[in-house]
Amino acid sequence: MRPFAYEAPTDAQAAVRLASVPATAHVTSPVQYKGGGTTLIDLMKLDVMQPTTLVDITRLNDERLRRIESLPNELRIGSLVTMARLHEDPAIVRNYPILTESLWQGASQQLRNMAFLGGNVLQRTRCSYFRDPSFAQCNKRNPGSGCSALDGANRGHAVLGTSEHCIALYAGDWAPALVALDARVEVLGRSGVRSVAFADLHRLPGSTPHIETNLMPGDLITAFVIPGGPRRRSLYRKIRDRESYQFANASAAVALEMDGDVVRDARIGLGGVATIPWRARTAERMLRGRRLTEASANAAAAAEFEAAKTRAHNVYKVALGRATMVRSLLEAQALEIA
Ligand code: SF4
Repeated sequence: MRPFAYEAPTDAQAAVRLASVPATAHVTSPVQYKGGGTTLIDLMKLDVMQPTTLVDITRLNDERLRRIESLPNELRIGSLVTMARLHEDPAIVRNYPILTESLWQGASQQLRNMAFLGGNVLQRTRCSYFRDPSFAQCNKRNPGSGCSALDGANRGHAVLGTSEHCIALYAGDWAPALVALDARVEVLGRSGVRSVAFADLHRLPGSTPHIETNLMPGDLITAFVIPGGPRRRSLYRKIRDRESYQFANASAAVALEMDGDVVRDARIGLGGVATIPWRARTAERMLRGRRLTEASANAAAAAEFEAAKTRAHNVYKVALGRATMVRSLLEAQALEIA
């Protein structure tokens, strides 16, 4: 690992000032926030990320960063809440199964204890070409160098939201749940606090896959806000090669509002198939106002994946992604809500 400077401010504004250093020769800013460090330290050891300064945010003294607040019309979750704490909170277990299931399936217990939710949504891709600097061609790690995955081993790569410059998968589990709950993100930046739709946080790769989010240097995620009340008719289903500690081949986060067997509102986030946490807006539109049956769910899933672009080894993700969405919709419909 390369040497780096270490700062541990207690004031959030001071942290933002320290981290507001634009990217220059580095693909990412040379100053990085460190929370649990479960992605960052790995990538520093692999020499994929080479920050010159780490700003440790675990000592920030703003207690709201560590709170879970059930307010009358929203749930507010501080970004320094760990995965484990949210997952084990009895009110969240009861009222937001989509959140607890996605956290449970998103990491081992050790990682859930370490990782903060703010960092969780910013985890980097697992593309093996990105994570191994001995491969020269990776537009995300080294802009303009090419993409080794296009004609390489791409079984785990995305089929939705790809470009000719990058097909790397967004591998997180909690983010698709946030997408399905229409969450917003509170961000503290140089000019104060702003609120961003979570669905607008991540960027499609396009021709600049090294720019992964719409955050500016120094921007600090302070909270996630989920509008409305409890979402008990919700769930997260994940299909993977083995049943623990494995990334998704396909996943679906579903939150339904039903009038009998007619869909009043459906929100669907997909994981394991796309370059960003994917909001299945086409499928949602097709389902709204219609009876939810296996046939209507199949039609919606087929329409969502119409734009899928497959490569040599990931063709299976289209059928698997569709089936995962259909199964999740029907299981959410069948949930018995107390
Ligand atoms: Fe790099 Fe993206 Fe290609 Fe992977 S898919 S090698 S991250 S450019």
